[in-house]
Amino acid sequence: MSRVISFYPGPSRVESKVPDYMIDAYKTGILSINHRSQAFMNLLEDTCEILKKKLNIPESYEIYYTSSATECWEIIAQSAIGTSGSYHVYNGAFGEKWLHYTRALTSNCLQHPFDINEKLNVKNLKPGDKLICLTQNETSNGTQISEKLLRKIRKIFPDNLIAIDASSSMAGVHLDFNQADIWFASVQKCFGLPSGLALIICSPRAVEHAKSIAENRHYNSLKRIKVNMDNWQTTNTPNILGIYLLNRVVNNRKTIKKVHGELLSRKKSWTTFFNKFDDIDFLVDNKSVRSDTVFALKSESKLIEMLKIKALEKDIVLGNGYGRLTENTFRIANFPAIKKKEIKILKTFLRTRK
Ligand SMILES: *Cc1c(COP(=O)(O)O)cnc(C)c1O
Repeated sequence: MSRVISFYPGPSRVESKVPDYMIDAYKTGILSINHRSQAFMNLLEDTCEILKKKLNIPESYEIYYTSSATECWEIIAQSAIGTSGSYHVYNGAFGEKWLHYTRALTSNCLQHPFDINEKLNVKNLKPGDKLICLTQNETSNGTQISEKLLRKIRKIFPDNLIAIDASSSMAGVHLDFNQADIWFASVQKCFGLPSGLALIICSPRAVEHAKSIAENRHYNSLKRIKVNMDNWQTTNTPNILGIYLLNRVVNNRKTIKKVHGELLSRKKSWTTFFNKFDDIDFLVDNKSVRSDTVFALKSESKLIEMLKIKALEKDIVLGNGYGRLTENTFRIANFPAIKKKEIKILKTFLRTRK
């Protein structure tokens, strides 16, 4: 058992079986084999199959491996946006960062910020023919875009390509992959894995689009990644240990609908729990936009500071507030790897404050 109980929303608590899987990885020899070998190719193929089955990813979608969600932002900017540009819809720090990274690499970027309490009004969106960029779960402020809303956006803009940052929801929340063309996430959040690996998942339309743009100036050009992946290969020596652990952890998980159901019932119980407090409240008042996987809570900065220090004395790690929200919020991850008994310990601590 790890000494500390982490509720940090990334890097976050890793699955308890990770140490065993690490030893298995060493013993199988996969860590010492060339990544052009058949053994590695089999691992890649098998991992894609497991991901599709457990996360309900359509058969026709392609899964590629990268090193981080940040790298995915750049890959999309380099290889998938093209001349028509991108349209960034966001209400928090990660969506805004995505915009800034894209703006540094492309010249035709538009933004549509919205309020954290706003249930995004689709009628106000004016993407033209641009690629629409959405952050499904905004880790910085604990908000999410619902599946219903994603369906609506898809319906109203059927011709636009849609890219979705699902870094802190993929493998926790049931995502309807058909509602967008490019999905990406790093694995140190809901997957319950060590950092240094991310997935980018593309619809047939996104793959065709990347082929037609044929951007070829980077080692991680999307088309280059795709051509390699057609032969179960990667453009560079990948994070083999990370891929091995991903394979084992996802294989050991229940199907995503069950995992999501469990997180929803935990969310309900956390909501009841915090409703009893008069000095801690959810940052976001509008219940319908609150995240299923990351809770942002607001309070007086003095109380937050005290809670964080006292929690650490008990080996409990709370998530700091993010960016501008550092002082007046803290965050609690509602990720699948967290155990029931750990939640109980945190609730007791928050109630007794000692
Ligand atoms: C954590 C996070 C990122 C950044 O992930 P890296 O793996 O550090 O690049 C991007 N977007 C969201 C929504 C995140 O939660």
